[in-house]
Amino acid sequence: MQFELDDVWLDELGMNSGERLKKRRNYRMLMVGAVGASYLVDMGVLYGFAAAGTIDMQVPAVYGGLGLGHVVLFLLLHYSGFSERFENSHLTLWQMCYAITAQLIGMTLAPQVLTFFLAIIFIIFAFGVLRISLREALVVWLFACLAILVTFMVLPPASEGLSEPSRTELLLVLAAFGTILLRTIALGYYGLKLRMRMLSHTRKFESEAHSDSLTGAMNRRAILRAFEESATLCRRKAIPFCVAILDVDHFKQINDTYGHPVGDRVLRQIVRSVEETVRVSDKVGRFGGEEFLFVFPATTEDEGFTLMERIRLNIREYGWHAIDKSLTVTVSCGISEITPILIDREPISRADAALYAAKQNGRDQTKVYVEAEHIAFV
Ligand code: GH3
Ligand code: MG
Ligand code: MG
Repeated sequence: MQFELDDVWLDELGMNSGERLKKRRNYRMLMVGAVGASYLVDMGVLYGFAAAGTIDMQVPAVYGGLGLGHVVLFLLLHYSGFSERFENSHLTLWQMCYAITAQLIGMTLAPQVLTFFLAIIFIIFAFGVLRISLREALVVWLFACLAILVTFMVLPPASEGLSEPSRTELLLVLAAFGTILLRTIALGYYGLKLRMRMLSHTRKFESEAHSDSLTGAMNRRAILRAFEESATLCRRKAIPFCVAILDVDHFKQINDTYGHPVGDRVLRQIVRSVEETVRVSDKVGRFGGEEFLFVFPATTEDEGFTLMERIRLNIREYGWHAIDKSLTVTVSCGISEITPILIDREPISRADAALYAAKQNGRDQTKVYVEAEHIAFV
């Protein structure tokens, strides 16, 4: 199913396509309702002018009839599902043409308030252009200009506008433009809300694409990208950095003893604990099941080791007994400083080798990669 602008308002997690179609249809009908309300406001103003004797009493009635026709016609097209056959299921273009024609009829019947109808055409465009392409907007613009020209030619000469308006008429002019301005503000605000909502959707999708759904840490792809950024700085500007890997000790046993959901809670808490310990510039991501990769930009081996030890001890000292009385969690870590000379020699494998050494040495500790001990990577 294709994405529609309305989904910005309507999309909810886990909604199936049937529900979405229904919501879209209801929203389209709601929008026709808003158009109907706009006709009602204009009809009210026209009744004011009719009561003041400016225009004929039949004008607001005809205009109201045209408004009713608009609402009934498009509600039916939406309700019957007919409009769903079109790419623009609001049938915006057709609604615009109908509404512009209604204004032209109004102009012909009541040229005294011609500018009022012209201003309404402005609202029709402000509303319509949110949903149509620039090309379509220009086509309707051309249609509107030509139709207005023809209407001007049909109107008896010098019949447009108010001559020597009374105080009431001036107040009505104010009311007409006041309500038009209010609707322009409402439309601008609606457009702004749409954009803000879209922005927040985009942000959400972006963050989902970069983060691990279980722990909220960066996912593998994102942490590898962070690694590449530090690697580039290391190559170009000779800025060393540290890479570390953290692996939960006997995690399989934790799962087997306390269950998978407890295992998941442990992973989430580990990330929370890590985030409380590291600096904003430090990056951590879930590298695999219970393994986390760290990138510490512009950090020396000693600083990196101290940081990893703080992380390890914070995890060990956390009050795990709150999850289960007998639960304890320890982690092993391997860290390696990456200098310009080492950058192209499997830097992540160095941290992995140090982690392996930490596991071999009894777990619950941090090991630094020492060149002489791991000749295989040199
Ligand atoms: P070691 O101390 O040597 O690291 O032993 P270990 O048991 O931690 O390592 P092993 O690789 O044998 O087991 C890792 C376990 O992590 C196995 C797998 O079921 C579990 N695991 C991987 N991803 C998840 C996850 O998302 N949630 C949970 N609860 N468990 C996971
Ligand atoms: Mg493990
Ligand atoms: Mg592991």
